[in-house]
Amino acid sequence: MIHFVGAGSGAADLITVRGQNLLAQADVIIYAGSLVNPELLRVKKEGCLVYNSATMTLEDVMAVMEEAEKQGLTTVRLHTGDPSLYGAIREQMDCLQKKEIPFDVCPGVSSFCGAAAAIGAEYTLPGVSQTLIISRMEGRTPVPQREAIKSLAVHQASMVLFLSTGLLDRLQGELMEGGYPPDTPAAIVYKATWPDERKVFCTVETLHETAQKYHITKTALILVGRFLEGEYERSKLYDPSFATEFRAAQETRAAEEKRADKEQT
Ligand code: SAH
Repeated sequence: MIHFVGAGSGAADLITVRGQNLLAQADVIIYAGSLVNPELLRVKKEGCLVYNSATMTLEDVMAVMEEAEKQGLTTVRLHTGDPSLYGAIREQMDCLQKKEIPFDVCPGVSSFCGAAAAIGAEYTLPGVSQTLIISRMEGRTPVPQREAIKSLAVHQASMVLFLSTGLLDRLQGELMEGGYPPDTPAAIVYKATWPDERKVFCTVETLHETAQKYHITKTALILVGRFLEGEYERSKLYDPSFATEFRAAQETRAAEEKRADKEQT
């Protein structure tokens, strides 16, 4: 059995309980060494075989999994954040399916959630944006033309860019060309939730120079949008005058006073 497990965004205690249990029971662990906190491996049992996938190809990974399966062993494939985002798990799952090796997936805290937590932000603010766009700049991995940053930027929604820290010059150009005003708030969050986490705030127009100034070249997320500062509307869900399935609407203080006035007259 192969378990794909999300390691979480960095801090060793941000893995799920299920993920940690699977790690503790694994006979073989293949972890993404470039971004997974090695502290997570402390729970491994004695004799567990550990492989760092940073130096392996898909074929190498498959060979390890296949061998483990032949021997009746349990394997954990530990991916950074949540495996469903830029995790290259689909190709592994397809290979396993072909070989009729059973697998399942345990989700993790993605770094875009870790980054929001690190800066105390909410991506979906009423009156600001109700949409989060997750994307990346085209690098060696192509991005479909219809998803070019400048076309996504048209919406001026909240946006998180993965894998783009080395391409900020082009990124900021595309963001502005697409529609974000140059002074739109932006943040660069480096190693969110790791002990050496760093966060810097700037604007879309100053993304490139800010990253240069702080020597941030990788392992960072770029957050863009008005959710980062400024006005917003309060939520309907917790508004006293708004009824939900679980709570009747209360009178607002103003309405209450008005009624009291009326009753007196
Ligand atoms: N599956 C992962 C993403 C893997 S792609 C997830 O859900 O988070 C690798 C990219 O993710 C990095 O280049 C960087 O842009 C981002 N990243 C991963 N961990 C990060 C962290 N702790 N802080 C900031 N960015 C991170």
